[in-house]
Amino acid sequence: ATVLAATATAVTEAAGHGPRPLAGKAALVTGGSRGIGRAIALRLAADGAAVAVTFRSGQDQAGQVVKEIEQAGGRAWAVRADSCDAEAVRASVAGAADRFGRLDILVNNAGIGVLGPFEGISLDDVDRVLWTNVRAPFLAAQAAAAHLTEGGRIISIGSCMAERVAFPGGTLYATSKAALTGLTKTLARELGPRGITANLVTPGPIDTEMNPADGESAATQAGLTALGAYGRASDVAATVAHLAGDGGRYISGASIAVDGGFAA
Ligand code: NDP
Repeated sequence: ATVLAATATAVTEAAGHGPRPLAGKAALVTGGSRGIGRAIALRLAADGAAVAVTFRSGQDQAGQVVKEIEQAGGRAWAVRADSCDAEAVRASVAGAADRFGRLDILVNNAGIGVLGPFEGISLDDVDRVLWTNVRAPFLAAQAAAAHLTEGGRIISIGSCMAERVAFPGGTLYATSKAALTGLTKTLARELGPRGITANLVTPGPIDTEMNPADGESAATQAGLTALGAYGRASDVAATVAHLAGDGGRYISGASIAVDGGFAA
């Protein structure tokens, strides 16, 4: 499938726009070693935030992200935190707040998909997917809430597969991503009185290792979008950056699709 043509990189886009919107802020992006999380980390850093990225196995790739941010004059930190390890998740949030002296933005991005016929999904798959896609964001939000102050942001990455169109084979993944809607809306209510927002961004087909634009079902997925193409990780990052910045001040409990008009 084709990928929607790029306009400018996150860094050049942000560079041309005067004072950096996230200067002085600190963010944690889970699963920031590659794919969408990497793009979000680079974009938030380009917008001026100090950025911590977590990873499970991609130490070298996370190190590259840190290097790239530091070379551009920013502050970054990579920390191993397997989403299935509750203590590691909590420690990564506390570690980021400690390292940067504050925490303003949590991006729950790390996620996995196990696809296949419903009857064949094993208990191990259920645990792995729910722990990574639901339990970890829940725990990270809990840990972050201790550090977030007025203007704080919790942004989670859901999926169009839980909101717009159900795919055969997607029961477990869709179930896990649908849980983030409940988490987001309720967090918006519980943390709203403290001036903290919670939002969900639901991507459509985005060209990453998880869902390559040259993969088996790519043409079908692209065909379901109004634009007839895959999006880029930087497309999701742009919306996360908007929510993280002043533009997100009055947006809470929302689910924002970045899906090229998936099943529109
Ligand atoms: P990738 O597989 O390309 O990247 C996944 C990232 O999550 C990596 O940084 C990986 O770290 C991290 N990760 C995975 N499992 C764990 C774990 N147990 N603990 C810590 N980190 C982990 O995926 P995408 O970038 O495509 O996806 C990012 C998010 O966007 C996911 O939540 C996904 O569900 C969602 N999404 C993606 C879409 C797409 O079309 N690509 C569409 C809709 C939603 P490591 O490098 O260490 O393995």
